[in-house]
Amino acid sequence: MVVQDLLERTRLLQEEITEWRRALHAIPEPGFAEHKTADFLAEKLHSFGYQIKRGVARTGVVAELGEGRPRIGIRSEIDGYPVQENLNLAFASRNQGLMHACGHDANMACVMGAAKLLAESGALDGSIKILMQPSSESISEEDNKSGSNKFVEEGVLDDLDYLISFHVDATIISGNAGVLSNRGDERSESFSIMVDGGAGQAMAIASEIVVNLFESTKDQTTFKELLEVDSIQRQSPERALVRGRFTNLGRDTHKFFDNALKASCQAATQSCGHFELSYDNEQALFLNCDTVVKVVEQEVVSLLGEDRCKVVQRKAWSDDFFPYSSRVPSALLFLGVGLPSTPRILHTASFDVDESVLHMGTALIYQSVLSLLQDRPDFQN
Ligand SMILES: [Zn+2]
Repeated sequence: MVVQDLLERTRLLQEEITEWRRALHAIPEPGFAEHKTADFLAEKLHSFGYQIKRGVARTGVVAELGEGRPRIGIRSEIDGYPVQENLNLAFASRNQGLMHACGHDANMACVMGAAKLLAESGALDGSIKILMQPSSESISEEDNKSGSNKFVEEGVLDDLDYLISFHVDATIISGNAGVLSNRGDERSESFSIMVDGGAGQAMAIASEIVVNLFESTKDQTTFKELLEVDSIQRQSPERALVRGRFTNLGRDTHKFFDNALKASCQAATQSCGHFELSYDNEQALFLNCDTVVKVVEQEVVSLLGEDRCKVVQRKAWSDDFFPYSSRVPSALLFLGVGLPSTPRILHTASFDVDESVLHMGTALIYQSVLSLLQDRPDFQN
C-alpha cells in the first residue's frame, strides 16, 4: 500500500478509533483491576479475528494473529491514573478519583486500529502479538511488581522477535511523532533466591549457590565485575534467602546472569532442596534497539515527512518499558497529541489529547510492523 493510501485508509478508521478512545476514557480502572477495560479490548480484538488470552498478569489481554516468525509484539498500557478528572467532556470518566491522565485510552485505541488493519491485510509473513498490559503506573502490593514485570514472569515476551511500544505524548506538537532513542545507561538489577532445604540444609545450599555463582563468573571478564551478593539470610530452619544484584548493561548481561543464576541454583539443589529465583522490580529505564528504532523512524519520515519526525531523548518517563527493551529488540514510538491551546500536563486533572491525529498513530504502528515483518532486519543489539 502506498503511503498516501494508508493515511487515507486510517483516516477512514478515525471515527472508530475515536469512539474506542472515548468508550475507554469513560471507564478508567486502577492497575491490576482493569476488568471492564479488558472486556472491551478482548471483545474488539476477538471480533477482528485474534485469538485471545485473558487474565495474563491478572487483568492483561494478549491477542495473537497468524503463525510463524518473525513474531512482532505491539504493546499498550491499559491502566488509569488515580486523579479526579477536571474536564467537561461528554465522555468524562465515570469512575470517581480515576482518569486516563496518561493517555492510555488513546494508546489502546491506536493499537486496536493497527490490530484491525493488520487482521484485514490477509496472510502475514509472520505473526502478531498484541500486548495489552495492566498496571504500568502502579506495582502489586503482593510482590512489588508492575504489569510489565509480570508479563515477563508469565513468559509473554518469550516468543517475540521484535516489539513496538506505543504512547501518545502531549509535549510533542500534534501530528508529529518521535522515537525514543536513548541507548540506556548502566542499571542495577536485583535478584533474590529463596532456598527451601528441608532438615536444616537451607543455609548450606544457599552458600553453595553463591560459591557456584562466583565460580561461573570468575573467568568472564565482561561480567565478573558486575555481580554483587548482598546477603545470605536464614529465614527458618528450612529456608534461606540470598539477595544480590548485577549491573545490567543490556540484553546480553541479563541473559548471562539469568543463565548463571539458574545453573548455580540447579547444581546446588541437585541432590536435595528447591530454589525459587526472582527479579525485583526494575525501574522505568530505557534501552532501545538501534535497528528497530531506525525502522520505526523511517516509517515516521515516509508517512509524516522528515520535519515531523522528532528524536526523543528522555531520562524519565512514566512507563515500565525497560523490562521489555532489556529482553526483546524494541522501540518506543510516540505520537504527538499536544493541543495547541493550554499545555496539557501528564498525570494532571486537565490532561487531554488531540484526538484528530489518532489515526496517524494507527498508521505508524501498522506500517512499522509491516516493515519489520517484510524486511526481517538482522539485529545486533
Ligand atoms: Zn503511560
